[in-house]
Amino acid sequence: MNGSRVLVLNSGSSSVKYQLLDMADGTRLASGLVERIGEGPVADHAAALKQVAEELARQDLGLDSPELAAVGHRVVHGGTRFTEPALITDEVVEEIEKLIPLAPLHNPANVTGIKVARELRPDLPQVAVFDTAFHSTMPESAARYAVDVDTADRFGVRRYGFHGTSHAYVSRATAALLDRDVSEVNTIVLHLGNGASASAVRGGVCVDTSMGLTPLEGLVMGTRSGDLDAAAIFHLSRVGGMSIDEIDTLLNKRSGLLGLCGDNDMREIGRRMGEGDAEAQLAFDIYIHRLRKYVGAYTAVLGRVDAIAFTAGVGENSAAVREAAMRGLTAFGVEVDAVRNALRGSGARLISTENSRVAVAVVPTDEELEIASQTFDLVSD
Ligand code: AMP
Repeated sequence: MNGSRVLVLNSGSSSVKYQLLDMADGTRLASGLVERIGEGPVADHAAALKQVAEELARQDLGLDSPELAAVGHRVVHGGTRFTEPALITDEVVEEIEKLIPLAPLHNPANVTGIKVARELRPDLPQVAVFDTAFHSTMPESAARYAVDVDTADRFGVRRYGFHGTSHAYVSRATAALLDRDVSEVNTIVLHLGNGASASAVRGGVCVDTSMGLTPLEGLVMGTRSGDLDAAAIFHLSRVGGMSIDEIDTLLNKRSGLLGLCGDNDMREIGRRMGEGDAEAQLAFDIYIHRLRKYVGAYTAVLGRVDAIAFTAGVGENSAAVREAAMRGLTAFGVEVDAVRNALRGSGARLISTENSRVAVAVVPTDEELEIASQTFDLVSD
């Protein structure tokens, strides 16, 4: 292998995001997004990836460049089969396809992206990096639901966790910010984007996370309910007469902040709260209440917490969410500095006071860089 460039592809159901990174110095050479696949000029994923290839070629960064070392694909669900990044072979593609029932919205698009990229450059090493992999170290006590073991095992019903590349990257970046080795640091990572998840990371190893069998469990999100009594589903079916698909849509697309107040963007919710809007305020309060419960739970899981890291769209940008989530946690050794918290900045930064026993940090996530690094590490071996 000669080159040091990695193309990262994130193929979603209706879009393909791409970034080209040079791993020699970590620079981002190109990035972009092809949207509305299947709706107009971009007929399918093959057309979308050809468009990506053409855009890169226009910048003299084409897929045929000898500098390109590998393609790294984001794959949402690796089940129990994939606990590490995998060099893509026909067998690996088949295994990812077998996991489609666990991630019917995501894995098919990921597989299509892989197949098309392999057709475009059959000779180039390609790597699948799984959202679930970082969480595969969870002990059985955290990964298992208290459900009949035979049934659970037969259908793969257990907690897998998601956003793993982000939790992996942010827990390491937090240790780096503290100038300590990741193996010495216990961190609660709060990935708060449109999707949101928390994780408890002991010495760089994930021991619990809030998303489960699917990305529906856990925190209140933009449009997903997060934790819910499973019997609400029986109730909505038996009493509400709703079909399973309708309930799926309700809980994944019409719940969370959107379902509570009609907005899923934290900026808009903040603006409405400023005008005294009670509905927006209640949505915010429910969001914060759930978040604090997870911080408390993961403090108990870890025993000793060294750092709490906020990341993703809300975590990186909303001082109000960070302030409310950390308020009154002095008994936990957490003290946020109001001035530091309010300062806007681009890099990783501390927002706790000098005296805070637990370091509280804002750590911008970079899933593409993490996918590129894992891909490059694998193909450089
Ligand atoms: P992500 O999924 O990580 O891209 O996060 C997207 C979400 O971040 C949006 O839906 C907003 O709720 C939130 N967000 C982005 N910018 C801000 C901001 N300046 N203040 C508060 N929330 C923000």
